[in-house]
Amino acid sequence: MLTHRANLQQHLPVHDVVIFGSGPAGHTAALYSARANLKPVVFEGNQPGGQLTITTDVDNFPGFPEGIMGPELMERMKAQSERFGTRYSYEMCQEIDLSAWPYHFKAGGEEGYARTVIIATGASAKYLGLPNELRLQGYGVSACATCDGFFYRGKVVAVVGGGDSAAEEATFLTRFASKVYLLVRRDKLRASKIMQDRVFQNEKLEVLWHTEVADVLGDKHVTGVVLRDTRDGSTRDQTVDGLFLAIGHEPNSGPFRPWLDADETGYLVPSEPGTPRTKIPGVFICGDVQDHVYRQAITAAGSGCMAALEAERWLESTQHALKAGEAV
Ligand code: NDP
Repeated sequence: MLTHRANLQQHLPVHDVVIFGSGPAGHTAALYSARANLKPVVFEGNQPGGQLTITTDVDNFPGFPEGIMGPELMERMKAQSERFGTRYSYEMCQEIDLSAWPYHFKAGGEEGYARTVIIATGASAKYLGLPNELRLQGYGVSACATCDGFFYRGKVVAVVGGGDSAAEEATFLTRFASKVYLLVRRDKLRASKIMQDRVFQNEKLEVLWHTEVADVLGDKHVTGVVLRDTRDGSTRDQTVDGLFLAIGHEPNSGPFRPWLDADETGYLVPSEPGTPRTKIPGVFICGDVQDHVYRQAITAAGSGCMAALEAERWLESTQHALKAGEAV
């Protein structure tokens, strides 16, 4: 049952579809809603285009046999949904009130109501949480090898992590760096076999097993790291010019968590498995904010399509019922 909002502030706009997030999920949801003439508004968030804007070649998005650069793919998706009337705003969702319908939101300088909400806010890279790591972010500490690797030509860098991201980023960094240490806290990599082979066959790459980062050294820029042996706790300094984090991601679900179900790591959970529906009527989830398993551009895009189709159908049936005076 919908709880109808009692006092609508008349000067605020009421949108049919508000989409938060502008990765493949958000853009695809926008494209479908725009083509359904619902005039969606997309609040792009603090990383317009999402994670694909910090990658280089995308070789696994169907339709691009030669591959395509991540940022270009995102620009094309945006242009495609703009062609059908999507409005984009650089703001990000700060506040949302899903207690009554239409739902009230604030995104930067914009405020309004949404008849349906599509949450496509994605996930962001995790950091270790060390004070000096935070202080030196952008000064030798990075979570994006493809963005910053270029600055490390001829230098020594370390990559933290043992998954596919770490293996991929470490391998990528060997294009520039003279030496890449891969810091792995256990005695094995989690990365897929093919990525592991690339790591082991690369002469510029050295895996330091049982190794974690205890501290990051450097005054104005990273000069080294303190490495801790996870078996006996002993530490030693290692000179590096850059430290790259590749230890996974966390979902950008913050503003929505008070209202929606989430798992223990913060990923939003649908009310019916396999659908974008949530326990709040007219609120749908798609993309990486609800998917820690597949996390692909194509799966995100597919789920964005599902969310938009659900929003369209929900709006249609709700408005039909409201017109007929039925309880919704
Ligand atoms: P994962 O969760 O797979 O791996 C995270 C890695 O970081 C693990 O090795 C983990 O260690 C390590 N780690 C976590 N926290 C810490 C910490 N505090 N200190 C040190 N190490 C830490 O994340 P990924 O981002 O690598 O991959 C996520 C998903 O995306 C996977 O499904 C992956 O297959 C996919 N992916 C696919 C790619 C491709 O196919 N080209 C490229 C990139 C990602 P431990 O193993 O000990 O838990």
